[in-house]
Amino acid sequence: AKDAGKNTYQFFSEQMNIHSLQQLALESSLRSSIEREELLLHYQPIVDAKVGRITALEALLRWQHPDMGLVGPMQFIPIAEESGLIVPIGHWVLQTACQQGQAWHQAGYDIALTVNLSPRQLIEPDIVASIEDILSKTGFPAEYLTLEITEDLMMSNPEETVERIEDLRQLGIKFAVDDFGTGYSSLSYLKKFPIDTLKVDRSFLQGVPDDSDDSAITSAIVAMGKNLRLNVIAEGVETSEQCDFLLKQGCRLMQGYAFAKPQPAEEVSSLLDGTVGT
Ligand code: C2E
Ligand code: CA
Ligand code: CA
Ligand code: CA
Repeated sequence: AKDAGKNTYQFFSEQMNIHSLQQLALESSLRSSIEREELLLHYQPIVDAKVGRITALEALLRWQHPDMGLVGPMQFIPIAEESGLIVPIGHWVLQTACQQGQAWHQAGYDIALTVNLSPRQLIEPDIVASIEDILSKTGFPAEYLTLEITEDLMMSNPEETVERIEDLRQLGIKFAVDDFGTGYSSLSYLKKFPIDTLKVDRSFLQGVPDDSDDSAITSAIVAMGKNLRLNVIAEGVETSEQCDFLLKQGCRLMQGYAFAKPQPAEEVSSLLDGTVGT
């Protein structure tokens, strides 16, 4: 059924639903997306809201599909992960982000980058060499690069994962735990894992400050992160009330539509000239 073409469609349509056929079609066009140069990155500022300064940019993947238009990562990252395409795609993302980061540095912007790393990428045997290669070819300094990983990754293969992270940290790269609070983490993993930053998932921010549970969870994560001497970034900050609440909790690093949406590199460049605020 894997190569179900036009003629076999009728035959398989009973077992195979429309959804999985769409997945197959998407997978095959995703396979050629790199060569066809259909992938692109948008960048979203991470802001120190206390002083209104952009401290870093998160690279977020987009796919300019010939028929479907601009496709968001939620629609194709799962397919990329299942099919293994995430490995070459993830490589493209890192290389493109570092290239752009280096261009910003050469233009005089002192900006850090954060890039999402899929679990699948971190277990690739040559991941360390591959990232080292990207850094040396682009010239982007490792100290300015943070890789975002999820809690589930830390749980699934802790020993090997810690080793890989240690190797990459040797290069100067930093690590952030993405979507913190949504995975099935044991808090003790925070102690074992050599990480620098927690990103509070935006699902908690949604109810801040009106929902007392969301507010309690958010301030607890902020306090815990601070006590563990980690940087804490609040994701999905959309309102000035949320911003005020976070500042009161001592969380000054924020990312969200209140400050800036993810956008193409050229548009970000103009933001880097000034400061942003709510
Ligand atoms: P994420 O890493 O948690 O990225 C943040 C997502 O929240 C982005 O969605 C961003 O556009 C969105 N966002 C930012 N601020 C706000 C806000 O104030 N309100 C709301 N409602 N949303 C906000 P996006 O770009 O659609 O990315 C979705 C997910 O796809 C990312 O979630 C990440 O898990 C994954 N992803 C994106 N790029 C890559 C990549 O290069 N590699 C891998 N492996 N995953 C990626
Ligand atoms: Ca992320
Ligand atoms: Ca996130
Ligand atoms: Ca997320």
